[in-house]
Amino acid sequence: MTRLNRDQLVQLAKSQITEWTPRQLDEQRKKGEAVTVVDIRERDEWMQGHIPQSVFIPRGFLELQIEQHQPDRDMPVVIYCAGGVRSALAARNLQEMGYTNVISLIGGFNGWKNASLDFKVPKVLDEDQRIRYSRHTMLQEIGEEGQLKLLDSKVLLIGAGGLGSPAAFYLAAAGVGQIGIVDYDTVDVSNLQRQILHGQSDVGRPKVESAADTLREINPEVKVVGYQEPITSHNALEMISGYDVVLNGSDNFPTRYLVNDACQMLGIPLVDASIFMFEGQVTVYQPRQAEAGVEGGPCYRCLYPDPPPPGEVPSCAEAGVLGVLPGTVGCIQAIEAIKLLVGFGEPLIGRLLMIDTSDMTFRTLKVKRNSECPVCGDHPTVTELIDYNQFCGLPSTEQTTEAASLNGHHSTEKVLA
Ligand code: ZN
Repeated sequence: MTRLNRDQLVQLAKSQITEWTPRQLDEQRKKGEAVTVVDIRERDEWMQGHIPQSVFIPRGFLELQIEQHQPDRDMPVVIYCAGGVRSALAARNLQEMGYTNVISLIGGFNGWKNASLDFKVPKVLDEDQRIRYSRHTMLQEIGEEGQLKLLDSKVLLIGAGGLGSPAAFYLAAAGVGQIGIVDYDTVDVSNLQRQILHGQSDVGRPKVESAADTLREINPEVKVVGYQEPITSHNALEMISGYDVVLNGSDNFPTRYLVNDACQMLGIPLVDASIFMFEGQVTVYQPRQAEAGVEGGPCYRCLYPDPPPPGEVPSCAEAGVLGVLPGTVGCIQAIEAIKLLVGFGEPLIGRLLMIDTSDMTFRTLKVKRNSECPVCGDHPTVTELIDYNQFCGLPSTEQTTEAASLNGHHSTEKVLA
């Protein structure tokens, strides 16, 4: 058997395979040829930049993983490394596996860059983030890519109370980039039985400030934006737009209808929940967006077209609530938000989860979009925000907003952490 030195081996490999220049590859792709481009360098090399739409399979895994990316052995597969040597040797191995159309890129990634062709530098987690979120990134459904999505996403919480508290805790811990909190209330001793964002020393403080302090301690990386004002028809669209998901933790009907309508109009998914004594409900209202191929589901008005007469449904302040109940329900909201943001699993779209903690039963009811719905139906009649207090048979919104400003509650958006 002939002994070959390094150069002879490379020479032999190159004589047995096809090579393309970076320009040739670029032209083939521009012609619309289906070419699988494989980067066989090491992870740190890939992270510093790679050819767009290429797949990353480190050299050591090439034979083991190539079939997942190109099972058809007659389709063109372009392999590249840094300079075109490793890829020439690897191309020969793929030929031995029966790949008939393997091409090695002349000059590798350096050649690609020197030809002034576009390349992509991926966003990556830094060292601290890699450690902090390691239990997420090891889940295939999230991975580094999913965690980067979370870090890049914005969730708005309507209320920093019973539901908002646990949701905010876990969303901050999960690394959601920005958490907005709408709440003009101050912390009261009677809140502490369930609103775990706030503690004894926070009594009398604005809830948004107390919440921001707590969340900063959980995860200093998260930006907390407080809206210390009531959400109304005048400010709802502005407040909500720019967020990726809204979590409803409000305890009154005008806000429920308002937030629903605003989210539908803006095309933003709403994770809605309500609690009563020992029972809770959670669902996701995903607006339909035909252009984007989002089928969506029903909205709050599809399920509840008309508000109950004022005073008919008692609030938690009137009927009481098991303190840990919003803990469970708010955590389910946080899970749904994370699923929507990362894009895995089956969100509660078109399904209403009903929880009864007294006998600990969880049931899901299928719910459908109503084609006659005034907001999300085929012929919507409500196309701008209305006076929701009036709609719910209460004094007009204008008056409540004014009252709130008179009480000194009114303020603008503030970055709190
Ligand atoms: Zn609807």
